[in-house]
Amino acid sequence: MRLKFGAATDVGMVRQSNEDAFSAEGELFIVADGMGGHNAGEVASALAVTTMKSGARSGLTEPSQFRELVQQANTAIYTASLDDSAQAGMGTTVTALAVLPGEEPRVMVANVGDSRTYVWRNGRLDRISIDHSYVQELVNEGIITPEEARTHPRRNIVTRALGIDRSVQVDVFTYEVRTGDRLVLCSDGLVDEVSDAEISKVIGQHSNAQECAEALIMVANTNGGRDNTTVVVVDIADDISEPVAVIPDNDDTQQIESVPPVLVKEKRRITVGMTLFWSALVIIVLGVVVIMGVYGRSGYYLDFTGDDTVAVYRGRVGGVLWFDPTIDTETDLKGDDLPPDILRDVMTNREFASSSQARKFLSLVQQVILNSTTTTVPTTTTTVG
Ligand code: MG
Repeated sequence: MRLKFGAATDVGMVRQSNEDAFSAEGELFIVADGMGGHNAGEVASALAVTTMKSGARSGLTEPSQFRELVQQANTAIYTASLDDSAQAGMGTTVTALAVLPGEEPRVMVANVGDSRTYVWRNGRLDRISIDHSYVQELVNEGIITPEEARTHPRRNIVTRALGIDRSVQVDVFTYEVRTGDRLVLCSDGLVDEVSDAEISKVIGQHSNAQECAEALIMVANTNGGRDNTTVVVVDIADDISEPVAVIPDNDDTQQIESVPPVLVKEKRRITVGMTLFWSALVIIVLGVVVIMGVYGRSGYYLDFTGDDTVAVYRGRVGGVLWFDPTIDTETDLKGDDLPPDILRDVMTNREFASSSQARKFLSLVQQVILNSTTTTVPTTTTTVG
């Protein structure tokens, strides 16, 4: 595997000193972003780089060795911070890339903190490393999107760093590469100022690795340059192997299972989708209840009340859901008074579109009864007479 690379670092537009450190030599590439007052940050990042470089001199043959190398850097910084009170509490992030010897063209990526290693392949940019930061945890939980994380006010809080504790958990990934791949290591000064889409665009515009690193820093400074920015660009110059995805090689199972940002975004979209689904369902159910309520209260029909008088009921026979019929108009017509056809109408609950229609019908019934009575009376009278 042949590598071409370039690297650049810049203090930025705001800071007074550069606490980043890097190395780009042979088959080992490192970016470290130091933190801690009184220039201790730059001590920590420089210690990380020098410790790892000297430790790698005898060669790196497997991922566990690479992890150990980062842990050695942790020990060196932690010890130094205990020895000198001016450097108490200093720490640094680190992201590092090393070629993994073997038949397959592979690289190892180690990561602690929020400096990143990306791979750019066929115009597509993907992160290999996973940030150890407060906002990444929010992203993992689906609370914010990766895009929101980029401008979050707490984006600079890292949840892991070298030099803070006696031991540190290190992520190591192995990644199969192919000719044309471009690997980019950077400090958060780049990603805070430049979106992944913009980084990808700039990468595509520069075929030379050194020019690419410098161009990325220029964009970060143009966009504000509020932090130190460091970029290392490594091009896989010749190999004919097939591409494969990231293969995490890590004894930290939890980390292996960490959801990559893209998937997290997907998860969030599903959450929003479910919310919409349930909202729609509630609206539909409420709509059905309202429609049933309107239907249940809209009709009128005839029936007998408990004391056998005819009444107009509002609603539907037997009720609809919890909308029971109620008496709309009472009469003093008894079942015994009714002609057989009207009696049948009441018994079969004759329906009406409105209350007035029902009342009109009943007044006609009363007239019929009255008329039949008045015609009967003379007859009776006549009979009696
Ligand atoms: Mg920084």
